Amino acid sequence: MVPFLDLKRLNEPYNDVLRQAAIDVADSGWFIRGRYGERFEQAFAEYCGVKYAVGVGNGLDALTLMLRASMELGRLHAGDEILVPSNTYIATILAVSAVGLKPVLVEPAENFNMDPKRLKNACSAKTRGILVVHLYGRLCAMDEICEFANSHGMLLFEDCAQAHGARLCDGRSAGTFGSAAAFSFYPTKNLGALGDAGMVLTNDMDVANVVRALGNYGSEQKYVNKFKGVNSRLDEMQAALLLAKLPHLDESNERRRKIAERYCREITNSKVLLPELPGSPSEHVWHVFIIRLKSENDRDDLQRFLEKRGVGTLIHYPIPPHLQVAYAGEFGGEYPVAEAMAKTILSIPMSPVLTDDDVSEVIGAINAF
Ligand SMILES: *Cc1c(COP(=O)(O)O)cnc(C)c1O
Repeated sequence: MVPFLDLKRLNEPYNDVLRQAAIDVADSGWFIRGRYGERFEQAFAEYCGVKYAVGVGNGLDALTLMLRASMELGRLHAGDEILVPSNTYIATILAVSAVGLKPVLVEPAENFNMDPKRLKNACSAKTRGILVVHLYGRLCAMDEICEFANSHGMLLFEDCAQAHGARLCDGRSAGTFGSAAAFSFYPTKNLGALGDAGMVLTNDMDVANVVRALGNYGSEQKYVNKFKGVNSRLDEMQAALLLAKLPHLDESNERRRKIAERYCREITNSKVLLPELPGSPSEHVWHVFIIRLKSENDRDDLQRFLEKRGVGTLIHYPIPPHLQVAYAGEFGGEYPVAEAMAKTILSIPMSPVLTDDDVSEVIGAINAF
């Protein structure tokens, strides 16, 4: 039996430090916006290599507030178009539409990330920004995308909810390429809290200040409200827990890479298409490991076959955003690449706490199909 993801086992190696962190916060008598939040913000900013980090309530809020900050600063305006991937998790798109910007979908390349060659055709006179998603943990083609954004005077944002610690070989990290980046620390992410948590990273002090104010009722100074803000803050408990886990992030990403390499080497079933390993291993942190089948039938058959053998799988994601009821009729155009992917992808177990035997069991089951 290999479950898709065992959250209890995932956190077991940190049991002692997590318990101590929880006790420290309980004993401190200070629960919102205090020294653990500050320490985690500083530690995560340093880890990624940016100047400012602002803790918020969750990843969706991080995305939403980072975009709203640019609007409050007059750099984006309601109705401006933002390019987003057509195969992302819905949260990316929800954030763009929530603040009154218009999401415009760009189809992915074979590696599941936004295809830089399709950016030009997706642009109109109203396009003002690009929100990339390092989907499944793999960095997008940042050189090409940064170059495109710069040469067209567009703002660049990153959704790093699946890419904590992904780096180019020159050391530049997910979350450092654009004007701001959003992270989620949802429990299943590569760096996961024991509850909801999120963060905005930026090198721009104005963006950092506005995000911080927006997450605190729009207030920079107690009882003085500069913006119509919301309540979205990283609490001390989650910050302390994340601070305890951060030193182990690189090593747990490295374990994910080892597992991914084994999957790519040892899955030999000709019905299965494997992801391409990146040229530089550090570019991918394997938040999930996605295989593809040639048809929807094969995919569904394999999923049932694995389920019978006790191997858990999921589909990330079964319905692309443009086909969701919430967005019925809002996107013109056709998105055949995203649709074909949704029908043929399958996520197999991927977690730093999988044992070598677990990995062998998954590989054996897939090869037996
Ligand atoms: C998880 C995730 C989010 C949302 O994060 P929450 O903390 O759950 O709000 C946003 N974008 C992507 C790509 C995600 O995977």
